[in-house]
Amino acid sequence: MEIVDLKKWIRDIPDFPEKGVIFRDITPLLKNPEVFKYSVEKIAELIKEWDFDCIVSPESRGFIFATPLAYIMNKEFVPIRKPGKLPYKTYSISYELEYGQTSLEMHIDAIDKGEKVIVVDDVLATGGTTKAIKELIDRAGGKTVGVVCLAELTYLNPRENLKDLEIASLIRY
Ligand code: AMP
Repeated sequence: MEIVDLKKWIRDIPDFPEKGVIFRDITPLLKNPEVFKYSVEKIAELIKEWDFDCIVSPESRGFIFATPLAYIMNKEFVPIRKPGKLPYKTYSISYELEYGQTSLEMHIDAIDKGEKVIVVDDVLATGGTTKAIKELIDRAGGKTVGVVCLAELTYLNPRENLKDLEIASLIRY
């Protein structure tokens, strides 16, 4: 496929979910099979040299990119979920978002000791979610190699929060 200007397929919604936030809406991109496939393949290309066995990702928009990536790269997939959704014993963490506060959980046996892991999400904003997920991976004894996302919001300085990680993004705002 020709090079695609992916920003054309992401809709900016000002003041959602609250005043001052520009929400990057990926639903137009997902609605076009060629553009969605192109995005997943390009993300895979960005990280093809990274040494890892497992992809960890937060619900729900992270899953949209993480599961096809795990499938085409032949890697493990581990879901990170909102509280009360995972059925087995979990590690849990609370943290601050760009808008509000939240918690995330991961099964205690999701990651093997010493396993190399990457985080995948749709949008990297403050980096708070990735930082919290790294903490869950640390507790399980895994090693977080890096984070890859479709879109990085550089004006929120996510890299400040994630100094010891590899960071890759397909598009930047
Ligand atoms: P953060 O923890 O600040 O890096 O935020 C990352 C998470 O929040 C991701 O799961 C995104 O889906 C979501 N998110 C944060 N800010 C935005 C935004 N401006 N537009 C779309 N999604 C966002």
